[in-house]
Amino acid sequence: KKPVIAIDGYSSTGKSSISKVIAQKLGVIHLDTGALYRGITWFALQNCTDEDHNINLSRLFSSLPQISLEFKNDNGELILYLNDQDVSKEIRTNEVSSQVSLVAKQKEVRDFLLNTQRSLAGKGGIIMDGRDIGTVVLPDADYKFFLTASIDERTRRRYLELLSLGMEADEQQVRENLIQRDRIDSEREISPLRQAEDAIVIDNTALDKRQTIDKILSYIK
Ligand code: C5P
Repeated sequence: KKPVIAIDGYSSTGKSSISKVIAQKLGVIHLDTGALYRGITWFALQNCTDEDHNINLSRLFSSLPQISLEFKNDNGELILYLNDQDVSKEIRTNEVSSQVSLVAKQKEVRDFLLNTQRSLAGKGGIIMDGRDIGTVVLPDADYKFFLTASIDERTRRRYLELLSLGMEADEQQVRENLIQRDRIDSEREISPLRQAEDAIVIDNTALDKRQTIDKILSYIK
């Protein structure tokens, strides 16, 4: 039987890129749950803002039923289609990054996404990465990991990632966004960013991607 694996942790600890490789190695599918919260945030910025361009939460909540979330399986990688549109690039902008944690702390939004996430796990082996996978979404996962790394190292990784995507990046701004998101994610009432009691904690400050992957794989039978 293929395993169900939960990977949680702080922003820019490499959760998604590491999960993608592990999924391929194990022949399971991979879902980056952050993309779901980013997708809803992108939708809100397009469709549910006030004249001042701020997201109007009550308009977002009443629009949630109009959002269809579908996934295309691209070689094990689940690509999100929001209302039939591939939004992979759109959801990585600074604007989305700066608003996503405020959207993700809303109960209405989390409830809306919970079933989607769980139903994908019902289909067999999966690796899901996020903030509350081991604690809330998949509490019965076969394996749970929690990734952490120093803020300096995470800033460096995120900065280089943005540059490689051809996006503008300011290192100080990247750092502040990571700190702010981690704070809002950890302090929110519903499903805060937290390590599950039975999670294996990996600090990968001094590990590269390959070494982190090998370490995780060493626990999986
Ligand atoms: O993983 P990523 O950094 O793309 O996630 C973006 C944001 O989505 C997080 O900062 C958090 O606010 C939210 N998120 C969440 N729960 C998850 C995954 C992401 O609240 N399982």
